[in-house]
Amino acid sequence: MLTVPGLCWLCRMPLALAHWGICSCCARTLPLKVPVCPRCALPALSRTLPCGRCLQKMPPWQQMVTVSGYTPPLSQLVHQMKFSRRPEMALALARLLLLAVRDARRTRHCPVPDMLVSVPLWQRRQWRRGYNQSDLLCRPLARWLGCRYEPAALTRTRMTRIQHQLSARLRKRNLKNAFRLELPVQGLHMVIVDDVVTTGSTVAEMSQLLLRNGAATVQVWCLCRTL
Ligand SMILES: [Zn+2]
Ligand SMILES: [Zn+2]
Repeated sequence: MLTVPGLCWLCRMPLALAHWGICSCCARTLPLKVPVCPRCALPALSRTLPCGRCLQKMPPWQQMVTVSGYTPPLSQLVHQMKFSRRPEMALALARLLLLAVRDARRTRHCPVPDMLVSVPLWQRRQWRRGYNQSDLLCRPLARWLGCRYEPAALTRTRMTRIQHQLSARLRKRNLKNAFRLELPVQGLHMVIVDDVVTTGSTVAEMSQLLLRNGAATVQVWCLCRTL
């Protein structure tokens, strides 16, 4: 996506603030227009009650907030943030996530977060890419919300295979004990921030680790949610 400074990336109208990247009108068109489940953020019948899928097997986290499904134009922007060395895109995408969080708070009770945590990349993968997209989303969000962000709260204990190449069963095995908690989280309302959540096995593993260590609640905030 070719971008011109000062113009909206999507509709090319002038922006009130250049670093927003996406104008307010376009930001409003991105979210899914159907209700999504408060627990898994997939399309559902109710915005307030867990969906049938969740009732059968409750995810370990308490709430999930998302901007939209993994569909254009958001999927293209997320892809660019990840693979084309344009970390400045993260600021505009973090703002979209903030709008989604504010919106979720209007329709349901979401605890005020005490601490944000990012999904750690294995050092070598981060080194090759130069940055961690989840970390880039956390920094402005923590600033805007006035809560703590601890970049090193969770670390990877070992190299895991790239998740999207694996089946759901293998993903779970791949992630078993893949993370280590480095800080006390007792009694804290935690938020895991990620760019895209698919099967949710990575954030599930992280949520379980936080809850086992006494976290009061865990929310997952992601830009895109897909199955
Ligand atoms: Zn626009
Ligand atoms: Zn659900």
